[in-house]
Amino acid sequence: MTKVSVDRELCYGSGECVYRVPSVFTMEGGFGAVRAGREDSGDEPEVREAAELCPSQAIVLGTQPA
Ligand code: SF4
Repeated sequence: MTKVSVDRELCYGSGECVYRVPSVFTMEGGFGAVRAGREDSGDEPEVREAAELCPSQAIVLGTQPA
């Protein structure tokens, strides 16, 4: 099982992850964030794609949320 989280040091709030996978990502205080209860969805193909396409590489896979 792969964890997914957003590094707020890197995220600049483009919202693309929310647009791509609204079931997993949401906006929180102007930053992308992983919805409560979806922290273990890092193996889902659309989540991996969102991580690859994040313009600031702020979506972190495989580590515990910061
Ligand atoms: S796509 Fe990346 S930069 Fe944009 S809101 Fe999501 S995590 Fe932040």
